[in-house]
Amino acid sequence: TTILQAKHVEKTFGIQGNSYTALQGINLEIQEGEFVGIMGPSGAGKSTLLNIFSTIDTPTAGDITIAGQHILSMNEEQLSDFRRNQLGFIFQDYNLLDTLTVKENIVLPLALSKVPAAEIEKRVNDIADTFGIRDILGKYPYHISGGQKQRTAASRAIVANPSLILADEPTGALDSKSAASLLQSLKKLNELHHSTILMVTHDAYAASFCKRVIFIKDGRLYQELHRDDQLRKV
Ligand code: ADP
Ligand code: ADP
Repeated sequence: TTILQAKHVEKTFGIQGNSYTALQGINLEIQEGEFVGIMGPSGAGKSTLLNIFSTIDTPTAGDITIAGQHILSMNEEQLSDFRRNQLGFIFQDYNLLDTLTVKENIVLPLALSKVPAAEIEKRVNDIADTFGIRDILGKYPYHISGGQKQRTAASRAIVANPSLILADEPTGALDSKSAASLLQSLKKLNELHHSTILMVTHDAYAASFCKRVIFIKDGRLYQELHRDDQLRKV
């Protein structure tokens, strides 16, 4: 199943005569269960592209389908529902609520859902095991490390079983050990739960966890690298 399809996407900032083309000729297809990295230098257009897929920004031209829905023809209310039901977000800066425990932060996206309490409990425990944070579920963000915060944020991003997880420089604020732990958890999530993940990064180490890495430069996708699972395990 195709989870994301972008056709001829273009993004121009500013007005005619004084405009800047941040993205052009973007064609991209992501299948269910893929772990895709988009890698490129600062200013290449990574954030612009991710914001467009996040439905937070709109392209100047092109068409985008996510989970079978044309996101560019939705109104704000539909987009809000769409984000809540289909997308999971992992940011560089965690965005955890300080007044809630780790567990409460994780279950937040299910607050408005009709998922039964027992099912929520099971899901949280499964995810906490995947991310190695089961023993800190009762703690507050203030008392946990940056790495644990990011794994909490990642748990929150996937608790509602989104069709697509969008990660924007998720290791940007982490030391290399915490980054490794987060990336291994994402990889596990992808392999065990077939979660579809799109991660933007300028970090080659982070990109090395992806099954497919697409390189972006000057607003264009220009190269793609596929990794073979068996080679990777050596
Ligand atoms: P990256 O995430 O790869 O560092 P960005 O997507 O943030 O790159 O930026 C791509 C280009 O678009 C940059 O040259 C940036 O200055 C420009 N840009 C981004 N957002 C805006 C904006 N709101 N207005 C004008 N130019 C922008
Ligand atoms: P709601 O649907 O509750 O009204 P929003 O539509 O504002 O909330 O945001 C929906 C999702 O988009 C949230 O999960 C939020 O974390 C994420 N989000 C908000 N702002 C940004 C941003 N600048 N970039 C990427 N994702 C964002």
